[in-house]
Amino acid sequence: MDLLDLIYPPKCIFCGALMEKKKGKLCVCPSCLNELPRTEDRDIPVLQGVERVFVPLKYEGMVRSSLLDLKFSYRSANASSYAALIAPRIKKEEFDLITCVPVSRSTRRKRGFDQSELIAEELSRLTGVPFSKLLLKCARNKVQSTLSTREERQENVKGVFKARTGSDPRGKNILLVDDIITTGATVSECAAVLRNAGASSVSVCALALA
Ligand SMILES: [Zn+2]
Repeated sequence: MDLLDLIYPPKCIFCGALMEKKKGKLCVCPSCLNELPRTEDRDIPVLQGVERVFVPLKYEGMVRSSLLDLKFSYRSANASSYAALIAPRIKKEEFDLITCVPVSRSTRRKRGFDQSELIAEELSRLTGVPFSKLLLKCARNKVQSTLSTREERQENVKGVFKARTGSDPRGKNILLVDDIITTGATVSECAAVLRNAGASSVSVCALALA
């Protein structure tokens, strides 16, 4: 146990129960770990232009409340547990770079952090695949969750992202990280931008599937 764990005893990110010890980066109590709404292979969507999709959990119950909590308060510590839940599915040798779906500068300023970026950085530490910010959100759009149809969501993200100046996705197999996947419109658009910038392949991972 490290000193920080003694000063701030780790609490389960889903139910808040005090934990005697963490399992590596995973701060989830045994009973929540047992009850997590896990996805099955048949739940995972096929997304156009995306090589593979990794999403361990469903966006419901305790997963939903935990993600809402991270988004609207400042519990950035949750990100390391989220990454620890995704990491077992990721094979280091299949990827050259990890990157994330970016939020706008104003959203980042308002929240103080970018949750997909935090998850991506932790995932990079856990897997050993380097993290690089390859994308930029360059236009304003509506919040995807306010739109109901797939078509509206696709239209809403068109032209909103671009490759960052100085980043070089050419020839790389990239793992793109988001927090929640709903229709996949956002990650598909980001994947298209990365492929247009020369990426060899883009796979996607997220904590939860809505
Ligand atoms: Zn718990």
